[in-house]
Amino acid sequence: MKNLIIQKNISKVFKDYRGHKLQAIHDVSLSIEEGEFFILLGPSGCGKSTLLRIMSCLDKEFSGTQTYENGLSKSDLGFVFQQFALLPWLSVRENISLGLTARRTFGDLTKEDMDTVDSLMQSFGLHKFADEYPKELSGGMKQRVGIARALAINPKVMFLDEPFSALDSFTAKALRQELIDIWKERHMTIIMVTHNIEEALQLGDRIGVMSSRPGKLDDIVENTLPRPRELRSKEFFDMEDKLMSTVKV
Ligand code: ADP
Ligand code: MG
Repeated sequence: MKNLIIQKNISKVFKDYRGHKLQAIHDVSLSIEEGEFFILLGPSGCGKSTLLRIMSCLDKEFSGTQTYENGLSKSDLGFVFQQFALLPWLSVRENISLGLTARRTFGDLTKEDMDTVDSLMQSFGLHKFADEYPKELSGGMKQRVGIARALAINPKVMFLDEPFSALDSFTAKALRQELIDIWKERHMTIIMVTHNIEEALQLGDRIGVMSSRPGKLDDIVENTLPRPRELRSKEFFDMEDKLMSTVKV
């Protein structure tokens, strides 16, 4: 297996407004393999988002070393956020095009770019809403725009920070399946944060379990459940018990 991201002894300290220090991440060493679906799991406040931001180069202030390997570059990265992070003054089509617009001279999309955006809208059922604004959409459709926007640049690695936790459980269930399909079709590498154990087990190949104060990576659990995964099977519940026993709250 080829590694795409290698982290060694990553630590991160925040200072609050009074100058008090808070160690958000302590001594995390982790390698991400090409093609895997990696989950960062842990209770709220344990440093999952902080670690994801460091991994995805959104945050460059940390100690330790991090390298991108095997030709991975920053332009290969896609991002999906919990609160969707759509721009309210842009239409669905314009939101999906954002990453492409940023890459073109004067922001002019090529014919190929427009075809990419059209085909993404088609596959997410968004073509009917192409000229509407985010506020007209349901949460699920908003996050489909968020995912389509990340995919438009054809990323090798997609980072998702609790992408389904703002959605109702029915919508979250549908979107989890859509994400599995995307990951399979595109042979991507996915790194996703969640605090939901069932979601971690449904999606992940490997699950990095974190604990807080300071945020540490306690364990990496290999998810041996075969795909497609049967959520109500004995094997699933056994794996859930195993994972539950490693999570410290
Ligand atoms: P998680 O995503 O697991 O809920 P975070 O990575 O957001 O956790 O936060 C980890 C810890 O770092 C928390 O205690 C949080 O309050 C703190 N923290 C996060 N971002 C900042 C920041 N910008 N300034 C100060 N403290 C922060
Ligand atoms: Mg978070």
